[in-house]
Amino acid sequence: MVNVPFIDLHAQYESIRGEITDAVQEVLDSSAFVGGPFVEKFEESFARFCGTAHAVAVSSGTSALWMTLICLGIGPGDEVITVPNTFIATAEAISLCGARPVFVDVEQDSCTLDPGLLQAAVTPNTKAIIPVHLFGQPANMDPIMAFAAERNLFVIEDACQAHGARYRDRPVGSMGDAACFSFYPGKNLGAYGEAGAVTTNNAELAGNIRRMRDHGQSRKYYHGMIGWNGRMDGIQGAVLSVKLEYLASWNEKRRKNAALYNDFLHVHEGVILPVEMEYARHIYHIYAIRVQNRDRVLARLNEKGINCGIHYPLPIHLQDAYRSFGLAKGTFPVTEQVADQLLSLPMYPELTHEQIEYVARETKNVTMASR
Ligand SMILES: *Cc1c(COP(=O)(O)O)cnc(C)c1O
Repeated sequence: MVNVPFIDLHAQYESIRGEITDAVQEVLDSSAFVGGPFVEKFEESFARFCGTAHAVAVSSGTSALWMTLICLGIGPGDEVITVPNTFIATAEAISLCGARPVFVDVEQDSCTLDPGLLQAAVTPNTKAIIPVHLFGQPANMDPIMAFAAERNLFVIEDACQAHGARYRDRPVGSMGDAACFSFYPGKNLGAYGEAGAVTTNNAELAGNIRRMRDHGQSRKYYHGMIGWNGRMDGIQGAVLSVKLEYLASWNEKRRKNAALYNDFLHVHEGVILPVEMEYARHIYHIYAIRVQNRDRVLARLNEKGINCGIHYPLPIHLQDAYRSFGLAKGTFPVTEQVADQLLSLPMYPELTHEQIEYVARETKNVTMASR
């Protein structure tokens, strides 16, 4: 039996251990624990990476989303359109700024926001759209941006799973009014703790988020607005600067690993492979196949030493947290269908050929037996 974890953060750490130790030591020696030069340096290189004028480092992807919405003036009485098949943070940020998430279903192939459904969801209260670049694949941004432009809506990219992905040669993070990134350790660009960022070309918005993350102050103890504590740690800034240098090559390895999985699995009837859309450069934060009897397949693979994930087992509109919305089962059929079928196979840059071959072989065996 080959043991294949779902993700292996240790293997990646080992490959850069010396550089990380030096970078963290430098932060410790200079006591720049919160904000400061290490965070600023990362902001500059991350903005360059995304092709935007500004990147504002914050404490998490969730706080990036929440502070962006607040700083765009979105609040009670407003509606924000997003999808029900995402991590709950996307919807939470909308709810916690006092606005209402309005869900639209996703497309079959990409599992990202279906632009054809925007018209039916928009109302005079709609202020923004948050497309989610799910699993490392950008949402179909051209029709979304065109729809938003016609109606004067903000577009905020939830890019928490898509650092370095591209849409028709445009980097994720550079297309909307703003984009929100998470550097949670398991993301393609992961910190060694909590961290996030907002990218934008809007200088005023960037300035407001900078103030908001620091209690609304632009000068110590003078507070021009009601803000929050949403800052990034110095250690995270230093770690992320080291890791950003490797991100392109790590994403490339993920793409090679995905191609290898596809080669091994494409002839097999029991498995629907992830689709890379013609407009997308997918960076496979998650490699999710679709199978029948998903829970049984997952349990069998576990017995074979293969750890899989489910992203996500229960769509947001069916969560207890959103029960008051009264959105019954059947409201978003594509989201609900894929929630029952999606199975995330192990995916990280350091996966070996042998591990991928083993996972693919066992996936074929198990799906054959579970049909
Ligand atoms: C991870 C994630 C978030 C939240 O980021 P945190 O850094 O964990 O707060 C938001 N949206 C999506 C789609 C995510 O995957």
